[in-house]
Amino acid sequence: MIDLKNIGKTQVDFLRDAYNHDKIAHSYLFIDPMQEKGLATAYWLACLFNCTGTNKPDGTCNECQRILSGNHPDVFLVKLEGKQTLSIDQVRPLKEELSKSPVEGTRRFFFIENADKLTLAANNALLNLLEEPVAPVVTILIANNANQILPTVRSRTQIVNFYDEKEDSRYSKLLEFGLNSDEIADLGDTSNLEQECKYLYQELLENSDMAIVRVHKLAGLANKPGSQKFVFYQLKQFALDKIDKYINLEKNAQLLQLLMDCDKMRASNVNFHNCLDYLVLKFE
Ligand SMILES: [Zn+2]
Repeated sequence: MIDLKNIGKTQVDFLRDAYNHDKIAHSYLFIDPMQEKGLATAYWLACLFNCTGTNKPDGTCNECQRILSGNHPDVFLVKLEGKQTLSIDQVRPLKEELSKSPVEGTRRFFFIENADKLTLAANNALLNLLEEPVAPVVTILIANNANQILPTVRSRTQIVNFYDEKEDSRYSKLLEFGLNSDEIADLGDTSNLEQECKYLYQELLENSDMAIVRVHKLAGLANKPGSQKFVFYQLKQFALDKIDKYINLEKNAQLLQLLMDCDKMRASNVNFHNCLDYLVLKFE
C-alpha cells in the first residue's frame, strides 16, 4: 500500500498546476535519491486523475484506495522484484498495454521504479514506448540518479527533481564517504540508526558501561554493508560536529582518530560487530 503522506510537497504543487492547465506531460523522469517520495508522488498523480472525492486526491475514496493498493486496471508498476536489473521482459507488457484505451479513467499510468536499473535492451524498448504517444498514457520513470538514465531516454522526459538542499548535501557527503548511490537509496529512513549512533557517541565520551550494549544493538540494526558504512559516517560526523555541549575536546579528538582506524578495519572486511567492540574496548 502506497502512503500519500510520503509525497513531495513542491513537486505535487507543480504537477497539480500542470493538471489544472491540462499540461501533464506524457513522460516524466522523477529523480529521487530515496525513491520513496518519487513513487508516492507518481501514485498521487494517478489518484488526482481518478479520485471521486471533493478534495482531490483524498486518498480515501474507492478509486484512490484501489490505486494505492495496486489494484487499478489503469495503473501499472514495473519494479525490480528482487532482481539486479529491469529486463526487457518487464518492459514489454507495457508496450502491449500502450495501444489499449484506459479501462476506467481518462489515462493510463506506467510507473517504472529503479529506472536506472533498466538494461540497455529494456531502455531501447522503453524508447519506443516514449516515442509513440498514441494512447492517453503517462509514463513516470523513477530513478535515484539522472546520470544513470540513457540520454536518449532522458531527453524524452520531463525531469522532476526530488532532492531538497539538505538531503542533497547529505547525499553528496555520503557519496564522498564511499557509499554508492544504491547503498544510499537502500538506507531508507536512517533516524533510528542516527539516534543509536548518537547514544553510542555520548556513551563513549562518558565511558558508560552502556556502550557495549549499544554496540550490540547497532550491529543488529546495521546488517548491510551500506548501513554499516553509514554508522561510521554518522559517528565521525558527530565527532566532527562536536555535538556534545560539555565535550572534552581532547577525548573527542582521540575518539575521532579511533573511529577512523575502526572504519579502516571495517573496510578491510573485519566483522562489523568486532570493529565496534574494538572501538569500545580501546576507547577508555
Ligand atoms: Zn479519492
